[in-house]
Amino acid sequence: MPELATPALTAARQALKRYYGYDNFRPMQADIIENILGGKDTVVLMPTGGGKSICFQIPAVVSAGTCVVVSPLIALMKDQVEALKANGIPAAYINSSVGQNEANDVARAALSGHLKLLYVSPEKLLSDGFLVFLNRINISLFAIDEAHCISSWGHDFRPEYTQLGALRTHFPSTPIIALTATADRLTKRDIITQLSLQQPKVFLSSFDRPNINLIVRPGQNRVDGVIDFMARHPNEAGIIYCLSRKQCETLAGKLQQKGLKASYYHAGMTPNQRASVQEKFLQDDLQVIVATIAFGMGIDKSNVRWVIHYNLPKNIEGYYQEIGRAGRDGTPATALLFYSFADVMQMREMVTKDVPARQAQLNTAKLERMQQFAEAASCRRRILLHYFSEDLGRDCGNCDICRNPPTTFDGTLIAQKALSAAFRSREKPAINLLIDILRGMRNQAVLSGGYDQIKTYGAGSDLPYLDWYSYLHQMLNDGLFYIAYEEGYALKITERGQQVLKGQLPVSLKKFQPTEKAEKGSRAK
Ligand code: ADP
Ligand code: ZN
Repeated sequence: MPELATPALTAARQALKRYYGYDNFRPMQADIIENILGGKDTVVLMPTGGGKSICFQIPAVVSAGTCVVVSPLIALMKDQVEALKANGIPAAYINSSVGQNEANDVARAALSGHLKLLYVSPEKLLSDGFLVFLNRINISLFAIDEAHCISSWGHDFRPEYTQLGALRTHFPSTPIIALTATADRLTKRDIITQLSLQQPKVFLSSFDRPNINLIVRPGQNRVDGVIDFMARHPNEAGIIYCLSRKQCETLAGKLQQKGLKASYYHAGMTPNQRASVQEKFLQDDLQVIVATIAFGMGIDKSNVRWVIHYNLPKNIEGYYQEIGRAGRDGTPATALLFYSFADVMQMREMVTKDVPARQAQLNTAKLERMQQFAEAASCRRRILLHYFSEDLGRDCGNCDICRNPPTTFDGTLIAQKALSAAFRSREKPAINLLIDILRGMRNQAVLSGGYDQIKTYGAGSDLPYLDWYSYLHQMLNDGLFYIAYEEGYALKITERGQQVLKGQLPVSLKKFQPTEKAEKGSRAK
C-alpha cells in the first residue's frame, strides 16, 4: 500500500521512533491512527499481541489534550502507565486501588493539561461527579480497551461496560476508539450500537497466527503427557492452563519433583505472591507457569514457546486468547489441548450453574463449539478462523489434522440436503430442529412450523440423529453454516454454504464413528 505521508502521519511516525524506538508501523496501525487523527470513530479488532495499544497511544501523544482510556483490568493499569512513563509519555491512572490524595494529584495533573493519557476503570468513570470532572479537561480521544466486555454475547461480559454509552451523550464530538481481540459478529455489532459510534471505520486484522502449531490429544495420562511434552521442549518457556487452583498447585508440584522450574498462579494468591511469580516468569527464572485463566491478561512476554490446556476451555474465544500468548515473536510455537469427554460434562455443569437460563443456553452452545473443535476432522486453524468469520482459503499445514489427516468421504450430497433443508425452512431452525426436519420427525416443533410441508422434509431419514449431529457440526466447522445466537440459535447459510448448495464446491466429511463417549452425551432418540 503506498503510504501518502500526511503531516499527521509524519508526526505519528516520528513519535513512534522517539517514544517507542520502532521504525515502522505494523500493517493497519498507520491507517487506524490516521482515521483517529481525522477525528473519526474507530473500531479495532486485532488479536492479542497485534499491537493495539499503539493505535491510541500515538494519537494521544501527537494530539492536544488528554486521551481517556477505559480499561477493566485494574491490575494492568499500573504496568501500562509505568511503561508509558518509562518511555517519556506523561500518563496516570485512577481506579478503586488509588487513594484519595493520589487521585487528587492525578486530577490536578489532568486539569493542568499535562497528561497525555489517563487510564480509568469503568466503575470510576461512571461514578458520581467523574463525568463532570472530565468535562473540565480537554479530552482528545476516548479509548475503550477490551471493548468486547460490552456485549452480553461475549465471553467476558461486564455489566458496567454497558453504561459507557453515556460517553457519547456527554461528549458528542470527541472521537471514540474501541479495541478488542474478539471479532465475532455479535460482539462487533454490540460495540458499535452500545457506544453509539458514528459511522465508525472498522479495522479487522487477520486473526491467523500461522506460527502456532495446533495439537489436540486425548486426555488420558495428562501428567505424563505434560512431562513428555516438556522433555521434547527443553528450556522453552510455557504456560499450562488448568481448571482449578488445586490442580495448578498439584501439577506444579509434580513438575518441580521432576526438577523442572515450575510454579503456579491463580486468583487465590496474594497480589504480592502473584507479582513475584509473574516477575520470575518474565525474567526467565521460571520455565513454566501452571495457571488458571486468571493468568496472562496483558502479559507481554514474547518468547512463550508453548501453551498447554490441561482441561477443555469453555469456549473458542477464551481458547484462542490463551493460545495467543504463545509465539508472540512470530517464530514457531505450539498449542496443545488435552481433551476428554469427561471434561465436557464437567464444564457443562460449570457454565450453566447459577446463571440465568438464557446465559446457560448460550454458554452451552459455545461449549459445544469448543467440543466440536476438539473432536474435529478438518484443519483446526480453518475452524478457528471460521469461528471468527474469516476464511483461510486453504488448509494450514500446521495442525495435527493437516499433518495426519483422517479418512474422509465425499459428503457433498449430505451437505446439500442439510443446506437445502435450512434454506427451505427460511434459516429459522436451530440444529436439533433441523435434524428432526431432515429425518422426517413428526413432533410439535416440526409440525407447528409447517416444516413437514417443505421439499427436503425427511430427505435425511436414512441417517441416525448422531450422524446428522456430527455432520452438521463438521459443516459449522467448515464454515458452511453459522449460528445466529440472537435468533434462537438458528443455522444460517454462509457464502461458502451457498456455493455448496449451487454445486460449486465439494464437501468432504469424516464418517461418524459412534463411540462410547459420544453416546453418553447424546440425546436419546
Ligand atoms: P495488544 O494490545 O494488541 O495485545 P500490544 O499493544 O501490547 O498488543 O503490542 C504487543 C507488542 O508488540 C508490544 O511489545 C509492542 O511494543 C509491540 N509493537 C506494537 N507495535 C509495534 C511496531 N509498530 N513495531 C514493533 N513492535 C510493535
Ligand atoms: Zn491445519
